[in-house]
Amino acid sequence: MRTTSLLLSTLKEDPADAEIASHRLMLRAGLIRRVSAGIYTWLPLGLRVVRRIEAIVREELEASGAREVLMPAVQPAELWEESGRWDQYGSELLRFTDRHDRPFCLGPTHEEVITDLVRREVRSYKQLPLNLYQVQTKFRDEIRPRFGVMRAREFIMKDAYSFHVDEACLERTYREMHACYTRIFQRLGLDFRPVLADSGNIGGATSHEFHVLADAGEDLIAFSDAGDFAANVERAEAVAVPAERAAPAAELRRVATPGAHTIDAVSTLLGVDASRTLKTLLVAGEQGPIALVLRGDHVLNEIKAAKIEGVAEPLTLVDEATVRAATGAGSGSLGPLGLTIPVIVDRSAAQVADFVCGANEDGFHLTGVNWDRDLPLEATQIADLRNVVDGDPSPDGAGVLRLRRGIEVGHIFQLGTKYSEAMKAQVQDEAGTARTLLMGCYGIGITRIAGAAIEQCHDAAGIVWPEAIAPFRVAVVPLNAHRNEKVREAADALYAQLREAGLDPLLDDRDERPGVKFADMELIGIPHRIVVGEKSLDEDAVEYRGRTDSKSVKVPRNAVLDFLRERFHG
Ligand code: ATP
Ligand code: MG
Repeated sequence: MRTTSLLLSTLKEDPADAEIASHRLMLRAGLIRRVSAGIYTWLPLGLRVVRRIEAIVREELEASGAREVLMPAVQPAELWEESGRWDQYGSELLRFTDRHDRPFCLGPTHEEVITDLVRREVRSYKQLPLNLYQVQTKFRDEIRPRFGVMRAREFIMKDAYSFHVDEACLERTYREMHACYTRIFQRLGLDFRPVLADSGNIGGATSHEFHVLADAGEDLIAFSDAGDFAANVERAEAVAVPAERAAPAAELRRVATPGAHTIDAVSTLLGVDASRTLKTLLVAGEQGPIALVLRGDHVLNEIKAAKIEGVAEPLTLVDEATVRAATGAGSGSLGPLGLTIPVIVDRSAAQVADFVCGANEDGFHLTGVNWDRDLPLEATQIADLRNVVDGDPSPDGAGVLRLRRGIEVGHIFQLGTKYSEAMKAQVQDEAGTARTLLMGCYGIGITRIAGAAIEQCHDAAGIVWPEAIAPFRVAVVPLNAHRNEKVREAADALYAQLREAGLDPLLDDRDERPGVKFADMELIGIPHRIVVGEKSLDEDAVEYRGRTDSKSVKVPRNAVLDFLRERFHG
């Protein structure tokens, strides 16, 4: 392809509203343009990347036995009412009515539509298992669209849905899809990790996310430094360090702590480390407020807490008036001692001795508090309430946990019968009995991957595409061809030769200065570059440079093709 036909629109300056490298570079390289918040147009160069990603995803899915369908973006409300999600989904679901006042939504995901299709089309267990996928545009009215296409409102997803008569079959397909995703992300050339995940509001029990590791990732993932354990922090179990709680050494005291309402303020004022303080948070429960007690230096994990029986889901902190009515104090002076509401203590908080906590009296804290001596622990529920931290023991017993940031690019779930039961999707089994289908669902954020790849692979000069998804693998850059017939002819000939060989080259045929062309080819991240200039042509050679090489090398003109093939990865 010729650059002049590509609408190559690179920007010299960093766009003001882009917070992270990938968003900046996608705009600067002219891959995308913003139309509205979280809504983008893909320019020719960017779309080539998307198509490359889609091709790899399609190939691997087809190879794993999944078949492509294409479902509509617009979905009727009836289906969502049947599954119960019309009311549950919240404001991410963009709802509207047609001219007859019939309610519709823009599909954020397609469980309802596919379940409706399969319940109509599939009659017998003999047609199963079945795995159907699509590559399609989703709309989610994200509360905070940001980072360009990484958290967009309109984006392309590959979503697959599998159907089974029994659990073993679902698990088999789930494992196959796990392996299929692993191959996809390997082929994409990205540093990624599959991690245990929470299944969010899609439903179901078992779920894994695939994360591209990058500092700008919105998710925190934890993995063992010695074993295989890897999980999203949302879901990683915090096991208490196996240790006996120290015997009480200090006396229980009530101390005045005027103005100290936070853990920081209290620990500074009293000169104790935050890990020796306990914080108490009141959350809504099914029968009134519940107190959650954690170490001052730990962070509440809302997903784990919301799953505890009796705690309201989603987790909600109660308002200040309710706190005061339940405890007699403001939320900055709470502690587990003397509370009459249910108390749930985090595993690690239950191990602290001689701790500091609020006195349930404004402006006062207690010091030298001890479980059992001062307040019985056995009557209290102990649970895993906190986020894991770097250095925590790994839940599988192998080594300790390390934390890294990740960008979620894929998510696989075992849904079980969540949708098929609500929507009555059944088949007849061998004995002729109606059986409710089991389902799995498997998503990949196609457009998010383009951003995630840049986030992981860039340098000061621009994007460094993994070869597998680069918009072009090789750029042919003639120098001053508009003034030199020989250069133009040589570049055209090389371009034709590379095209014929199926190398899909980009010919930078603009009448630009060499410096501008070099900068642009680096910015848009083409992995291999061949420069055709007057000087090297005199030696019947051209100059090659890999995107991250520090120097160019001379290559005889008749050896270019073999030279490039040797350097290509796939
Ligand atoms: P997140 O936690 O990032 O919101 P999710 O759990 O809502 O993701 P899924 O419903 O599992 O995502 O969707 C499947 C895939 O679609 C995700 O793994 C992600 O790669 C992609 N995706 C989800 N939301 C967006 C978005 N707003 N913009 C771009 N891609 C998205
Ligand atoms: Mg989401």
